[in-house]
Amino acid sequence: MARVDYYTLLGVDRGASADDIKRAFRKLALQYHPDRNPDDLDAERRFKEIAEAYAVLSNPEERARYDQLGSFYRPDGAPPTPEDLARALGEVFGGIFGRRADAQAGEDLRYTLSLTLEQVAEGGEHDLKVPRQVNCRRCESTGAHPDGGRRDCEHCAGSGKNPGGGRLFKPRCPRCDGRGFVVVKRCDRCDGAGRHGSEDVLRVKVPKGVATGQKLKLRGRGNEGLRGGATGDLYVLINVAEHSLFRRRGADLLCDVPVTFAEAAMGADVPVPTLSGGTIIRVPPGTQSGKLLRLTGRGLPTPDGKSPGDLHLKVVVEVPSRLSDEQRALLDKFSRLAEPGTHPQRDAFRKAVTRG
Ligand SMILES: [Zn+2]
Ligand SMILES: [Zn+2]
Repeated sequence: MARVDYYTLLGVDRGASADDIKRAFRKLALQYHPDRNPDDLDAERRFKEIAEAYAVLSNPEERARYDQLGSFYRPDGAPPTPEDLARALGEVFGGIFGRRADAQAGEDLRYTLSLTLEQVAEGGEHDLKVPRQVNCRRCESTGAHPDGGRRDCEHCAGSGKNPGGGRLFKPRCPRCDGRGFVVVKRCDRCDGAGRHGSEDVLRVKVPKGVATGQKLKLRGRGNEGLRGGATGDLYVLINVAEHSLFRRRGADLLCDVPVTFAEAAMGADVPVPTLSGGTIIRVPPGTQSGKLLRLTGRGLPTPDGKSPGDLHLKVVVEVPSRLSDEQRALLDKFSRLAEPGTHPQRDAFRKAVTRG
């Protein structure tokens, strides 16, 4: 916004009273209000300037700061918010002007972001290409062909106000919906809709440890609104793909580790996967099928940055599905050599069954 002196903007001198300022603003606001100057960008810019000037000068503290700083003054270092403008307008007009009645808010959008478990573990940025509706620059969202696509509304003579309405604040013309014109030839870019499809390329930061069903909200990245309507939001829905090796339970990971009968009985160093690459675990001699071995902290990170989950490795003894004659002979010999007490679970079970 151009830095024009606020007093000059409102046409008052530096000693003006609060009432003088209010009166000056009211007069100018009526003159430049967007509702009275549809599609006049100059009037809109002017209106914003005087609204900003009023927002500052009508607040005694801000006015004192402004008097002190002059052209170095920035309202909180930022342009006025819509709330500032609404407050300024509400004070003077008691809420006669609001958002344009025909404004249409843009729709919220959903985008499903599919992640691998490895991506969940790493977190980081992802580039999205999101199709959405944006305002048509070619017709300035009017839907009318820029080359003779519109003509003045006959009902309201182009004013947009209902000719039968009140004296100062006439209601909108029903024929043209307050726009002051009717479309006779549709815009060839948006086909008359005022908006058209576009592809938004944006980068989203995904925290570590997210899970399926979680949503990230990107404010103002949905469809654009029409006629000053607010832009919708974009919800990025997280979907974590199934992993070929790991199952997930919160931040913990589970993985089956098949071993041979001999490895389980005699013990072995077995290669196992982790999300950050392979490692070796020691399966102790005499490990039973179903035994869980844990790698602490090798699960998933958590979004709140607390300690990460664990990796649970489940030893699963795989019995050979066929045997050679030699293996069969050796296993037979092994069985006969088995000493009492080496299969306590099996022995107890058999005993219970025979007794029952
Ligand atoms: Zn009309
Ligand atoms: Zn258009």
